[in-house]
Amino acid sequence: MIAPDLDTAIARLTDMVNAARTIVPFTGAGISTECGIPDFRSPGGLWTKNKPILFEEFLASQEARNESWRRRFAMEEHFSMARPGRGHLALASLYRSGKVPAVVTQNIDNLHQASGIAPEDVVELHGNTTFAHCLDCNRRYELSWVRQRMEAANGCAPDCPACGGFIKTATVSFGQAMPDAAMQRAQDLSQACDLFLAIGSSLVVWPAAGFPLMAKRHGARLVIVNREPTDFDDIADLVVRQDIGTVFEPLIVH
Ligand code: NAD
Ligand code: ZN
Repeated sequence: MIAPDLDTAIARLTDMVNAARTIVPFTGAGISTECGIPDFRSPGGLWTKNKPILFEEFLASQEARNESWRRRFAMEEHFSMARPGRGHLALASLYRSGKVPAVVTQNIDNLHQASGIAPEDVVELHGNTTFAHCLDCNRRYELSWVRQRMEAANGCAPDCPACGGFIKTATVSFGQAMPDAAMQRAQDLSQACDLFLAIGSSLVVWPAAGFPLMAKRHGARLVIVNREPTDFDDIADLVVRQDIGTVFEPLIVH
């Protein structure tokens, strides 16, 4: 059912949340647009400006690594200024109430953690862009450190001082393997919940987009909150094509 208007959407969503025992939210870039971080696929989104750098390109060329870091620092103002939005705060309220065991996210912006969800209960399918690590020894590096080293080396991205490995934001690039533990946890959560909320994702990136389907097949009710239609709208129990912050604001408990 596509909610015909905002009031109906909020009423149906609230009823389904109240009736649920275990809710698993699955979030994409749309939950963070009101926080000042553009998504990929909306008009004017990041996608329209930059072709992504593939993981194999990052590994193969110093220039690709430099460019990847230049782009990251160009986005730093967006990421460092961002604070959790109304969607994040509503999910944090549901988490505190005990109905949400964990949030599964495609986002890399750390805003679920910033909203008060314990880091171990934020299942990041695409990693996290707020810090970096060595691809070989996994040692953690702060972005400020990378930036200083790049500035001191004429824009050349640094390698790991400990092992010589390449240093990359802790994100999963196109062409890079998905994190096994996060994928397994997302699968377990999707299969065990009775309400699955897909929020702000175009649901086109696989394998992550398979989780709403998995939840539905295991008997959960499926709600999709996204401004644009998705390929899964037909199987959803409720489709809300409204602004995420506005829809979730009534669920915030201060
Ligand atoms: P996407 O860009 O493919 O889709 C975002 C969807 O959110 C769009 O369909 C858009 O219509 C909708 N949307 C945007 N703002 C909305 C709002 N206020 N209310 C309702 N709907 C809104 O994003 P995706 O499916 O998450 O995939 C893109 C990938 O890019 C992700 O996997 C993620 O790793 C990465 N990414 C992350 C961030 C972030 O961390 N904030 C930002 C951009 C991209
Ligand atoms: Zn290393």
